[in-house]
Amino acid sequence: MVIMKNIRLKSLVLSGMLLSSQLYAKKPSVKEAEAFLQTVEKTLVKEMEYSAKIAWVQSNFITQDTIWLGAKNNEKMSALGVEYALQAAKFDKVKLPKDMRRKLNLLKSSLTIAAPTDEKKNAQLAQISSELEAMYGTGKFCEKDQCKTLNDLEEIMTKSRDEKELLKTWKGWRTISPPMRAKYSTMVKLANEGARNLGFKDTGAMWRSQYDMTADEFAQELDKQYQQVKPLYEALQCHVRAKLTEHYGKQVMGDDGMIPAHLLGNMWAQSWTNVYDLVKPPKAVEGSPIDVTKLLAKAKYDPIKMVKTGEAFFTSLGLPALPETFWQRSLFTKPKDREVVCHASAWDLDNIDDLRIKMCIKVDEEDFVTIHHELGHNFYQRAYKDQSIIYRTGANDGFHEAIGDTIALSITPEYLAKIGLLDKAPKSTSDLGMLMKMALERVAFLPFGLMIDQWRWKVYSGEISQEEYNKGWWQLRNKYQGVKSPVAITEANFDPGAKYHISAGVPYTRYFLAHILEFQFHRELCKAAGNKGPLHRCSIYGNKKAGAKLTKMLEMGASAPWQDALEVVANSRQMDASAVIDYFAPLKTWLDEQNKDRDCGW
Ligand SMILES: [Zn+2]
Repeated sequence: MVIMKNIRLKSLVLSGMLLSSQLYAKKPSVKEAEAFLQTVEKTLVKEMEYSAKIAWVQSNFITQDTIWLGAKNNEKMSALGVEYALQAAKFDKVKLPKDMRRKLNLLKSSLTIAAPTDEKKNAQLAQISSELEAMYGTGKFCEKDQCKTLNDLEEIMTKSRDEKELLKTWKGWRTISPPMRAKYSTMVKLANEGARNLGFKDTGAMWRSQYDMTADEFAQELDKQYQQVKPLYEALQCHVRAKLTEHYGKQVMGDDGMIPAHLLGNMWAQSWTNVYDLVKPPKAVEGSPIDVTKLLAKAKYDPIKMVKTGEAFFTSLGLPALPETFWQRSLFTKPKDREVVCHASAWDLDNIDDLRIKMCIKVDEEDFVTIHHELGHNFYQRAYKDQSIIYRTGANDGFHEAIGDTIALSITPEYLAKIGLLDKAPKSTSDLGMLMKMALERVAFLPFGLMIDQWRWKVYSGEISQEEYNKGWWQLRNKYQGVKSPVAITEANFDPGAKYHISAGVPYTRYFLAHILEFQFHRELCKAAGNKGPLHRCSIYGNKKAGAKLTKMLEMGASAPWQDALEVVANSRQMDASAVIDYFAPLKTWLDEQNKDRDCGW
């Protein structure tokens, strides 16, 4: 669920640079800033397309050679990004029109990784980054001559209820990451050097500076949002633990209040929907939760039909259909003959309308939702295509992740009935089952979404040293998720590396932001659509009024602070996690009842 657009961050080209540092040795003028930005915009349009094509080929054909090409490409784009950031910083003291100031600030702060200016180190950093991502993409768990890919292993994690098999699978995937540890540590050092050249304390501080507020204010903002949803998460964790204990027994679960990480139906325990049947409310109050996987199978959906259905939701809001090239150039299913990065992603290769997704689609509910997620990126990308190339990105990265998930919240029974997957929507007298399913996906995710970058911020700041990578990782997983390692924690392992976004160096806070924002967007768009019923039964499908609001926000791209963009949809400049609480209110009441005699907390 990554969006391949941050290439800008990883990249900058020297060849197109008309502006050497000497040029601005004296007092840079407004005119020079203008000329600089024009050059940047012109160069970026060209270089980003070239770079995106290389990245696409690398991800679709993982070979020694494409890894090499990918590394060269990263190296070039990294150098260009850093060069632009350094150049932009030279105008820090010049009084400039607002728009120019914003563009320069974005050039300075939007790098994911800042390469060191030293050519050799830049090349080393690019090489390591490529290798780490490829180690993940080609990672397999082999026993004798039987090898399992991540897809195979995830299948087991999803379905198996055999504790021993789950443990073996969980441990098996984590055999791919110990060899990443030394490389990862070198990457951290080099990336920090680059961030410091740009005036940031470290890479983590650089990441936190991209949100139209200071790095410290941003950290506080995250904390504030999390405090709002924490009681809901804790109630869910308590109930799920009690139910898993009934199934797996005290011996497996232990008595520290935490849940072993291999029992939650997901390789990283980040989404718990697959243990629904173990934790669901009793029949009398369950209502009729919808099994989309079954409906898709019954209606004989294939991957393409799933994507077409996703597209139709967006067009029902008034957004234009995807271009023909999307269907010709995307990757929808896992190829049999080659290695690809299966992790779902959305692409915009020319930053206009060469939109694509790359997924190994399975015909199930999870991928049906993921398709909406990825298409959210694509429709956003095309909506802001007329902005300056510097603004062709989300209002912040959380917005980009939130759009498709907002739409997925509208996959209600009424919607499924409208598109013919369901005969008739059941009455909404008791939707506890439906809400439980949604909570297992999105509420369960919240502390996970937060802790990933808590770990990385500490790694980049040096608070967690290389000798304590795994220990630090599990301390955070314990603290936030109340989830624990099923095996003794040792530094011979490197469990963080077995998560895509860590090995691929993709920041993660965006997903936490998205999981708050999407509920806020949903609540406000439902208001615009005139919804009167419960929030979890609202679908904005086909509502042009809600569509118009959404479109207006999407078209802004990053041309204004994210608070401005939020205001368009939410009539407020504040992020507000109370929408999560509103959405799950009936479930929270029920969970509290269930938990009243349980010993909650960890
Ligand atoms: Zn995404």
